[in-house]
Formats: sequence, structure tokens, C-alpha cells
Amino acid sequence: MSINWFPGHMAIAVDKIKKAMADHDVVVEILDARCPMASSNPMVETLRLARQRPCLKVLNKADAADAAVTPQWLAQFNAQKNTHAIALSAKKPGDAQKIIGAAKKLAPHRNDTIKPLRLLVMGVPNVGKSTLINALLKQRKAKVGDEPAITKALARYELSPVVSLTDTPGLMWPKIEHPDDGLMLAASHSIGINAYIESEVAIFLADLLLARYPKLLAARYGAKEMQDGVGVIETVAAKRGFRIRGGGFDFEKAAITLLNDYRSGTLGRISLETPASRAARPAPPGRNEAASEADADSE
Ligand code: GDP
Repeated sequence: MSINWFPGHMAIAVDKIKKAMADHDVVVEILDARCPMASSNPMVETLRLARQRPCLKVLNKADAADAAVTPQWLAQFNAQKNTHAIALSAKKPGDAQKIIGAAKKLAPHRNDTIKPLRLLVMGVPNVGKSTLINALLKQRKAKVGDEPAITKALARYELSPVVSLTDTPGLMWPKIEHPDDGLMLAASHSIGINAYIESEVAIFLADLLLARYPKLLAARYGAKEMQDGVGVIETVAAKRGFRIRGGGFDFEKAAITLLNDYRSGTLGRISLETPASRAARPAPPGRNEAASEADADSE
């Protein structure tokens, strides 16, 4: 399944962000710690590099991610030029404040009322951007919701006389190159439910969990004979007694339950990708075709 998702309001937002880049000093990119690369919008890099702005990558929801995997991502991101990465949980009191200290280090010259530090906060929908901004503002000004794309326009806040912050709408990009990235984003609720089929996303998630976190699945759903993703979802249905009229499993309901158990953290701490799993995965189908065409042309 490939997920293409670029509604008109996002194209308008990109244009606004492009202009805003000129009078901001540091891009604060909020990522989902459970899938930090899948939740990296390639447009953030393009937009910030056009203005040579440094980037603070914030791996949010670290409380829900695998504690053994997050440091691997931090090491990878911290090796990148003009980039610093931190992991935190917007829901943990005091954690959001770490963003300010880390951003200051990326633009040490912006440190007084004449040259205040101006942060531009970006991220795909549902990574916890509003929760983080609310924590920084210490009041509920940005809307929080578990539905993608609630923030619609750029909003600027003065955090102090020397630090300001601009919030941007949760932004997707026109074409997600690798289908797995779309599936991880859908599983993590960054893509509106009209753009994907829940059971397909749940089967992808179930296969991944079976390969990487079988103990978490067994602990929650209690079955031993889970062979594949479909089997996992059937096990969820059996465990919960989800049946349709006539006696078969209610696969849809079980699929949604699995997705919700992952999203809410009920299943446990899970990272959908690691630097190694990402490096090892095959290129997206389109890439293979393009590569073979290029090979054919050169023969
Ligand atoms: P936005 O679309 O990026 O502004 O995301 P929101 O701030 O609206 O948050 C989306 C969902 O993620 C909400 O259900 C939040 O409660 C949840 N959330 C935000 N930050 C965290 C976090 O650090 N940990 C966990 N577990 N959930 C979080």
C-alpha cells in the first residue's frame, strides 16, 4: 500500500513556512521516538537547508519507545551536520523545557532582546507538537487532540523576552517514498484514517510486533501459536471475544484494538524501526523499477 496525502491546506502551509524560515534561527523538528525516520518529513530538511538553519530534532514520546533503541537514533542524528537530537516526553513535567537549552546551543549568538532566539517548530501530525508547546507556554493555548492536523496556521508565541516560538501546522509531504513509512505513520496516527485501510495497517504492525516484540504480544493477548500478522489479529479477536454474526472472527474490530493498544502504549514500549532495521530494508518498489530502467538505458 502506498499512502499519498497532500491536501491543499498543507501546500499553503509549506509556502508560509518557506517565508517564515527567513526570520527564524533554529528549526525544532518534533519526531515520534517510536519511528523517528518514518516521521521525518523530507521537506523539513529541504526548507531549512535552503536557509542553512540548524535543526534540533526532538524525539518525543520517548516514554512509549523502546528504551534500548532511542539512544541508537540519538547517536545517528547527532552525527549529522548542524543537527542536535534529544529525546523526551512532552507528558513528563519539565521535559519540554529541555528544548530551549538545546536550541540555545545551536544559535548561541541569538541571546538578548535585540537578537532573541526565534524557534520554528515543525513536525508531522500527532507527534505531540501541541502538547510540547502547551508545556512550554504552561497554559493550554495550542489545541491538543489525537486526530491529525488540528493546527491550521502559523502561530507565534513569546516564551520570554529572549525566546519566541512559532508553531506550524502538522505537515505531511506529497509522496511517502517507502510504503513501510506510510504504514508506520498510519499506525502511529499521523495520517488521517480516510487515507488508509485499518486492517492493512494493523497486519503490518502485527507482523512487525511478532518479529520484534513477541513477548509483549504474548503478555497482552496470551496466545502462543501466532504464526503471522493475520494470526496475531485473529488471536486478539479470540481473546476479546470479537465475533461477527455467524461465528467468524470480527477481524476489523480486532485490528482496530491492536492499533489502539499500540497507540495508547498499552502493549508496552515499542520502537517500530531502528537504524539497523532501516538500513537493512529493501528499497521501495518504485526505486527498484527506476533503477532497473536506468540500468537498461545504460546498456
Ligand atoms: P500534534 O498533532 O503534534 O500537535 O500532537 P498532540 O500534541 O495533539 O498529541 C497527539 C497525541 O499524542 C495526544 O493523544 C497526546 O496526548 C499524545 N502525546 C503527546 N506527547 C506525548 C508523549 O510524550 N508521550 C505519549 N505517550 N503521548 C504523547
